[in-house]
Amino acid sequence: MKYYSTNKKAQLASLETAVVKGLAEDRGLYMPQTIKKLPKSFFDDIDKMSFQEIAYTVADAFFGEDVEAEALKQIVYDTLAFDCPVVPVEDNIYSLELFHGPTLAFKDVGARFMARLLGYFIKKEGSDELVNVLVATSGDTGSAVANGFLGVDGIHVYVLYPKGKVSNIQECQFTTLGKNITAIEVDGVFDDCQRLVKTAFMDDELNKHMRLTSANSINVARFLPQAFYYFYAYAQMKRMGKADNLVMCVPSGNFGNICAALFGHAMGLPVKRFIAANNENDVFFQYLRTGEYKPQPTKQTLANAMDVGDPSNFARIYDLYGGSHERITSLISGFTITDPGIMSTMRYCHDTTGYVLDPHGACGSQALKDELKEGESGVFCETAHPAKFKEKVDAILSTDIAIPERLAAFMRGTKQSIPMSSDFEELKSFLMSR
Ligand SMILES: *Cc1c(COP(=O)(O)O)cnc(C)c1O
Repeated sequence: MKYYSTNKKAQLASLETAVVKGLAEDRGLYMPQTIKKLPKSFFDDIDKMSFQEIAYTVADAFFGEDVEAEALKQIVYDTLAFDCPVVPVEDNIYSLELFHGPTLAFKDVGARFMARLLGYFIKKEGSDELVNVLVATSGDTGSAVANGFLGVDGIHVYVLYPKGKVSNIQECQFTTLGKNITAIEVDGVFDDCQRLVKTAFMDDELNKHMRLTSANSINVARFLPQAFYYFYAYAQMKRMGKADNLVMCVPSGNFGNICAALFGHAMGLPVKRFIAANNENDVFFQYLRTGEYKPQPTKQTLANAMDVGDPSNFARIYDLYGGSHERITSLISGFTITDPGIMSTMRYCHDTTGYVLDPHGACGSQALKDELKEGESGVFCETAHPAKFKEKVDAILSTDIAIPERLAAFMRGTKQSIPMSSDFEELKSFLMSR
C-alpha cells in the first residue's frame, strides 16, 4: 500500500519510507491510500476473538501487503503483551483502561508496535548501520518510546528532556534503562529539546555521520496501531450486550489517539459517534463550533499530556473527511473542561463509585456524563494509570494510591543521564563522537 502526504505535494511513499522518515518532505503527514472495510463476519464473531486475534486482523488490513504474515503476527502479538480491559464505572459509562503496559499509558501500544516494525525493516534491509531515534519529551512520550525500543536490535534511542521539568516517576522510566537507550538532560525547557531535535534532523554533516529518525506520534507506525484497542473495546461491549448505540470518547491532545479511532470507524467499526474531550486547550472544540481552525498558545493544565495548542493530527482528520466541516461535525462532537472541573469530576467519581480517575481520563468521563443521550452506551479512554500522576491525584482525592510494582521497579533503578546545555553545537559534537 502507498502513503500520501496530507499536503499533497510529496511523492507517494512505501510503508517503509513512511515509517523511517516519519514526516513527508512537504512537511505533511502520511496517510494510507486506501482504508479497507472489514467484512461483516468479522464483526459478527468479534466477541469470540482474543485481543491479539482482533488486532492482527486490523493490522493485516493496513500492513498486510508490506509485511510478511508471520512477521506481522509476531509484531502484533509482542506489542500486545498486556490487556486493555473495559470496566463499568457509572450507569452506561465504561472505562477503556489503556494503562496496563510497561509505562502505564496508552502510548505504549504505538511505541512498541513502531519499534518492532522499524526493527523489521532494518533487519530486512540487511545493513549493519545503526538507526538512531531522537525524541524530545516533556515526560510521557520519552518513557513510552524508550521502553518500546529497549533491546530492539539495530536501533539506538536518545531521549532529550528538560532538566527539572519532568516528574520523578517519569524521569525514572527513561533514565534507568541503559542498553540502547541514552537519556540527555537538557538545561532548558521542553521547547529547547524540541528545537535541538529538529535542528539535528536538518544538519547535513550530522546526517552524513549517522542515520537519524524520529518516533513522535505523527509516525504512521505509532498512531495506526492505536486502532486495535477500539475494536477490542467494541468486542467487550458486545459481550456485555452493550454494543448498540455506542459512543466512544477520547481525551485528546495531539489527536493521534482519536484519529486512530476514526480510522477504525472508516474500516466499519460500529460506533455511532465520537467525542473529543479537551482540557482548556480547546482548538478542536472551537473548530467544531466555528468551522475555523485557529492554533493557540499552549495552556498548562492538570491533564498536561493534553496541553497542545496546535494538534498535528488535525491535518489527518481534516483530510479523512475531505475537509468537510459538516461531515466532521456529524460524527464527532467536542467537549472542554477546566482544571476545577477535572478536580470535581475526579472527586465525585471517587466518592460515589470508588473508581480513581487520572486527570486525563477525567476529561473523557465528564464529557460522557454531560453528552450521553438516552439509549446510548459510552466508553471513555482512561489514557494513563492514576499512579503516574500520584502527587496530583493524592492531593485532589486525599488518598495515598498504591504504586504498581512495575512503576516502583523503575524508581529503584539507578538514574543515568548525560547533562547538556541547550546549545546545538554541544549536542552535535556529542553525537558526532558516537
Ligand atoms: C498523549 C496523551 C494523551 C493525548 O493523546 P493524543 O493522541 O495526543 O491526543 C492523553 N492522555 C495521556 C495520558 C497521554 O499521555
